[in-house]
Amino acid sequence: MRSGRLAESLLPLRVSMQNLLDLDAGGLTAWFAAQGEKPFRARQVLRWMHRAGVADFDAMTDIAKSLRDKLKALAVVQPPAIVSDSLSDDGTRKFLIDVGNGNAVETVFIPEDDRGTLCVSTQAGCALDCAFCSTGKQGFNRNLGVAEIIGQLWQVNQALGVTHGDERAVSNVVLMGMGEPLANFDNAVAAMKLMLDDNAYGLSRRRVTLSTSGLVPLMDRLRDECPVALAVSLHAPDDRLRDELVPINRKYPLAELMAACRRYLEKAPRDFVTFEYVMLDGVNDSDAQARQLRALVGTLPCKFNLIPFNPFPGSPYRRSPGERVRRFADILMQAGIVTTTRKTRGDDIAAACGQLAGQVRDRTRRTANKTILFEEVA
Ligand code: SAH
Ligand code: SF4
Repeated sequence: MRSGRLAESLLPLRVSMQNLLDLDAGGLTAWFAAQGEKPFRARQVLRWMHRAGVADFDAMTDIAKSLRDKLKALAVVQPPAIVSDSLSDDGTRKFLIDVGNGNAVETVFIPEDDRGTLCVSTQAGCALDCAFCSTGKQGFNRNLGVAEIIGQLWQVNQALGVTHGDERAVSNVVLMGMGEPLANFDNAVAAMKLMLDDNAYGLSRRRVTLSTSGLVPLMDRLRDECPVALAVSLHAPDDRLRDELVPINRKYPLAELMAACRRYLEKAPRDFVTFEYVMLDGVNDSDAQARQLRALVGTLPCKFNLIPFNPFPGSPYRRSPGERVRRFADILMQAGIVTTTRKTRGDDIAAACGQLAGQVRDRTRRTANKTILFEEVA
């Protein structure tokens, strides 16, 4: 008895504070219920946090003081900190977000006339090691938590000085920053649910796009659990080349990927898949490869988005010349596929696609055995 009590008294006093930004609406309601509080209180707090951008419980003025005091004792509203903020000549704005232990990820705001798109990161680094990607070349550190993913949107709206309903607020989100979002499935989905929730950001499913390199089983789960607009990083018309450029293809080859795209469209908010295709000079940009792509997609409803390769230090590839990109796009268009070419933005601040590097401490044994990495993420 005595020693038991002694051991207990030696335990450090640990009150673990819940970061409320880590919870989606369902999670927040459950947490409030566990504290004996009603669901409408959770809804109020959700609106304060995400619609009004308020982190201080005392500023949540329609909540009774007794509940505010209780919340202060048990919880925090803690977004990740912004470490730096750089503005490109074209208006693109890149933020470096602290995710602890010397790691930082990037989030990029791209303003356009009719919308403001935020490109968010989901992992510190990426284990999938695509040949042409700066994030992949850095290795992988860890998955971001929900607060770290939704916190990018929270922080950028704060930095823009806007709250919900403001026309300058972020109107579209693409999960196309650092990392493979489907490899961090639960956290990416919880963050997307907040983006979609009317009591939080209220974005339509068509304005939230998840980009994947093709983790087939998780594409099916996404369709069932949180269908949003889908972009698939294709980059090659045949398995031999795709195995080399996008190594996850060795696990989920093109035939399986195409079938997964078809299944996804059964429940998707948009009636097409967007294929991203990075244009690498002399590697994947020939006329014959454009025709092969046409044959590969067959009758699958899709659009192509050609991305001029963005170089980064040490990358072995070159960007396809503009004329080649136009010719490649023409072949696809003549075959009846809507094809756009992505404008390269923010490259003066290394904020263009594939240039995001942040600061990542690699924790993988990359060269040892790549198949081990695949087991970890899929
Ligand atoms: N992991 C996901 C999402 C992040 S990458 C995915 O791979 O889809 C976002 C997009 O940027 C992908 O289409 C990716 O292939 C592309 N990309 C990566 N490196 C690039 C580079 N150096 N130049 C242009 N696009 C690149
Ligand atoms: Fe990862 Fe996407 Fe980069 Fe491939 S392209 S290494 S999946 S972030």
